[in-house]
Amino acid sequence: MARSGVACAQLLSKLGAKVSVTEHQDNQMIRQNASKLDLDNISIELGRHSEEFIRGRDMVIVSPGVPLSALPLVWAEQLRIPLLSEIEVGWLLCPATVIAVTGSNGKTTVTTLISKVLEAAGKKAFLCGNIGEPFCAKVDAMEQGDFVCLEVSSFQLETTRDFKPKISVILNFSQNHLDRYRTMQDYLEAKKRIFMNQDDSDYVVLNYSDPTLRRLKDQIKAKVVYFSEDGQLNPNQAAVLAVSLIIGVDREVCLRVFREFKGIEHRLEFVAEIDNVSFINDSKATTVDSTIWALSNISRPVILIAGGRDKGSDYQAILDLARKKVRYLILIGEAKGKIYSALKGALTIKEADTLQEAVKFAFYKANPGDCVLFSPMCSSFDMFTDYEQRGKLFKQAVYELKNRI
Ligand code: ADP
Repeated sequence: MARSGVACAQLLSKLGAKVSVTEHQDNQMIRQNASKLDLDNISIELGRHSEEFIRGRDMVIVSPGVPLSALPLVWAEQLRIPLLSEIEVGWLLCPATVIAVTGSNGKTTVTTLISKVLEAAGKKAFLCGNIGEPFCAKVDAMEQGDFVCLEVSSFQLETTRDFKPKISVILNFSQNHLDRYRTMQDYLEAKKRIFMNQDDSDYVVLNYSDPTLRRLKDQIKAKVVYFSEDGQLNPNQAAVLAVSLIIGVDREVCLRVFREFKGIEHRLEFVAEIDNVSFINDSKATTVDSTIWALSNISRPVILIAGGRDKGSDYQAILDLARKKVRYLILIGEAKGKIYSALKGALTIKEADTLQEAVKFAFYKANPGDCVLFSPMCSSFDMFTDYEQRGKLFKQAVYELKNRI
C-alpha cells in the first residue's frame, strides 16, 4: 500500500478488474494511502496477510520492495497463480516507447537525464520510477509516439514476464543487495531479465568498461551499443548520449542538457558552506560504489559521515581512495562495527550515536577548505524511514549549525 501498489490498484480497478490489496503493515501512512482507493470496489487487508485473500485470484501483482519470500508470494506460487511486477502491468497497457534503465548505481540520475534530453528535443517523455511517479500512475496518460523513461530495479525485474523495452540500459554491475541475493550471479540473473524478451528490433546499451556487462553481448538478441566515459563525459552522461543517438537526438542537445543539469536531491547535493567548510548530502549513496563515486567527484579534503544498515558490502573497497581523500571518518548506525573493522588502521575514525551529533563533530574537526560529505554506503532503515528522511535530517542538522554560527 505504498506508491506503486496504490497506483496499480487504482489503475486496474478503473479498468474493471476486481482488485484486493493485502498489506502487512498497518499504520497512519498506510491508512492514509488506503483512503485514496475506491473502497466500494477494492477490498483491503491491513496488518496481516491471509491465504483466503490470495486464493482464487487470476494474478498476484507485487510491489518493488516486497521480497519473494513474503507469504502472499509463496502462496501464489503454491496455488499456481501468475505473479507479476507493477512494471509488467504498466508495460502490458503502455502505448509509448519504453526506455528502461537498470544498474547498481546511477539509475535515477540517468533516467532523469534521458527524459530531460528527450524534452529538450521536443518529444513528450514520462519519467517513472524512484523519482517521478510509478509506471502505473502515468500509463493512462501515455500515447503512441511518447516515450517513457523507466527506472527498474533488479527486484522489479524478478517478476517480469513479457516486459520488452525498446531500449534497455545496464549502467554498471557491482556488489549491492547481497542482503537479498545469495550470490552476485543471482543478482546478475535478475538484471539480465531486462533484455530477455528483446529482439533485433530493440537495443541494449551496455557499459564497455564493466567486464561483466561487456561479456553479456553473446547472450543478447537485440542490437548492442556500448558506452564508456571519456575525458569530456562521465559514465552516466556517456550512457545518456548513447541512448540519445539511438533515438536520433543531436549530441549538441545532450551536451546542453548536461551543462544545465543541477543534480537531484540527496545525490551529491550541495547543502551549505559554513566558515569555508562545505556540506554535501549524498544520502542516496547506499552502496560502497556510490561513495567511491562521491569521493572521486570531490576535490577538497573530506570529513566523511557514513554508516546505516549493512547490505553485505565490502567496505575495504574504499580504502585506497579514502586514504588519499578522507581526513576523518565518522560512523553512525548498525554497520558501525563492521565498517570500523574494515577501515581501522588506515583512517582516523570516531563513532557517533546520532546523525546530528555526527554533523556537529564533523564541523568541529573540519579545517577551512574541507568538505563534510554524508555518503552512508548503507541503507537507511536502521534509524530512518528511508534515504529521503535521512537526507532531510542531515540538511536540517546542517542548517541548525549554520543558524547558530
Ligand atoms: P540509483 O537510482 O541507481 O540508486 P542514483 O542516481 O539515485 O542511483 O544515485 C545513487 C547514488 O550513486 C548517489 O550517491 C550518486 O551520487 C551515486 N552515483 C550516481 N551515478 C553513479 C555511477 N555511475 N557510479 C557510482 N555511483 C553513482
